[in-house]
Amino acid sequence: MLRQPLLLLRAVPSLILAAFGAAQQEPASDGARSQDVLRGSITPERAWWDVLHYDLSVSVHPDTRSIGGSNKITFKTLQAGGRMQIDLQPPLEIARVVHQGEELEFEREGKVYWITFPSPLDAGIEDVVEVFYEGKPRVSTRPPWSGGLSWKKDEQGNDFIATTCQGIGASIWWPNKDHGYDEPDRGMDIRITVPEALTAVSNGRLIETQSNAASETRTFHWRVVNPINNYGVNMNIGNYVSMDGSYDGEGGKLDLQYWVLAHQVEQAKKQFAEVPRTLAAFEHWFGKYPFYEDGYKLVVVPYLGMEHQSSVTYGNGFRNGYLGRDLSRTGVGMKFDFIIVHESAHEWWGNNISMRDAADMWIHESFANYAENLFVEYHFTAKEAQDYVIGCRALIQNDSPIIGTYGRNKSGSGDMYYKGGNMLHTMRHMLNDDDKWRECLRGLNREFWHKTVTTAEFEAYMSRECGFDFGKVFDQYLRTTDIPELVHETKGDSVTVWFEKVVPGFRVPVVLTIDGKERRVTVGTEPVEIATGGKAEDFALDRNFYMTVRAK
Ligand SMILES: [Zn+2]
Repeated sequence: MLRQPLLLLRAVPSLILAAFGAAQQEPASDGARSQDVLRGSITPERAWWDVLHYDLSVSVHPDTRSIGGSNKITFKTLQAGGRMQIDLQPPLEIARVVHQGEELEFEREGKVYWITFPSPLDAGIEDVVEVFYEGKPRVSTRPPWSGGLSWKKDEQGNDFIATTCQGIGASIWWPNKDHGYDEPDRGMDIRITVPEALTAVSNGRLIETQSNAASETRTFHWRVVNPINNYGVNMNIGNYVSMDGSYDGEGGKLDLQYWVLAHQVEQAKKQFAEVPRTLAAFEHWFGKYPFYEDGYKLVVVPYLGMEHQSSVTYGNGFRNGYLGRDLSRTGVGMKFDFIIVHESAHEWWGNNISMRDAADMWIHESFANYAENLFVEYHFTAKEAQDYVIGCRALIQNDSPIIGTYGRNKSGSGDMYYKGGNMLHTMRHMLNDDDKWRECLRGLNREFWHKTVTTAEFEAYMSRECGFDFGKVFDQYLRTTDIPELVHETKGDSVTVWFEKVVPGFRVPVVLTIDGKERRVTVGTEPVEIATGGKAEDFALDRNFYMTVRAK
């Protein structure tokens, strides 16, 4: 996901917050669970079964802006259970639910459906239920920040249609278990039927294209064999052509595919040369690309971009920067294509490793943001990389904590991007051991390979693997809006330093330059005296530490 342009953020904050955690609905007087509790928590009606595979078939009708089809859900029962929660948001409706040839009872409660089995299923069995649905899905007003379908036309008047659904959830366009904790372990099949003049592109590999002469349509069957998060599932429909390539990476030969509109081939050939460069930088820093089996794809869409797994979407206009602008205002941001770099980074941070709860979305966005400067360091210089991450500090709001509300599908502040990136950059400089730091980033992707995780697991892993207790650092930057303030006071021939505006127990090494002499000093809230052998004239904190400095 991308951070909303700040201008708009100020104008309509509700748009974003609405996406994550519909208005805080207090429990109804009869104790009924609120919609955000049903959406955001692991309800009993979700907990007893584990999704193994989704087989989604959907027909798309541009003329009526409607869709319809079914999702065959293969699951394993972890406990006995007979009432299943399936998420599907209005105006879409479930038409039928079939289990072993029998029609099942179902009832709607807002964005949730309760499916009732005639008798409870035993624990430890594998079973399948097929959910048929139809209707006119919500239209996305401002993709990718608002979810739904985009029914657009390309410059040549062809239909150009796409889904986006992070935040509001995948249940805005297909029925599923819409919570991040449970991904289909065996992947997913996606079969999209469209008018025969159009092409449908989805996640993973294209298994088959079938012509349906009678209905003048074609069905495109895509398959993902790796676990995938729900909001990463997408469909993109248009006058596409594809270009193939390959990349020799840590995992061997990686198939690359670029799906662009027929009239964009030349532009794409030039701009998408950035892809192998991006993969090289990220395999260096994060380890091998997580989905060699499914391949890597870049798919042009009628919105800015999004990290759909093995179907990264692109709408940056075939130019560098962020829609041609440099978010860091240092010039460095124009040295790379922001969308290719940021969205591809999510293949590691967000798709390989996924948040179990939306409250921990920083795990996706802080690392994807942080990856931008690591790309610059790999292909340009460390100084330019620092210029970039530090330049982006101007976009930090410190409006609310980065960690959101657990169990409510509610992510935290948009600061998870630039402040999260600066937190990680600061941690690297606290650690002051780049080999260990890189090994930690690679290790996270190994340790949590194709898993859903929590902040607590990340905190424990990073502190353990780095041999550095980052506990208070995480508390400070993820759970408060205060930025550590380093206070310094010169008295006689010494300088005393201490921190203010920090969480209790915050004590970290920083790099100071006093009268041209660089020193690495561990500072907490207790004053630390530094002998300077004469009245200090100059005092500076290394710019790589995201902190403020105040002279007493
Ligand atoms: Zn992102």
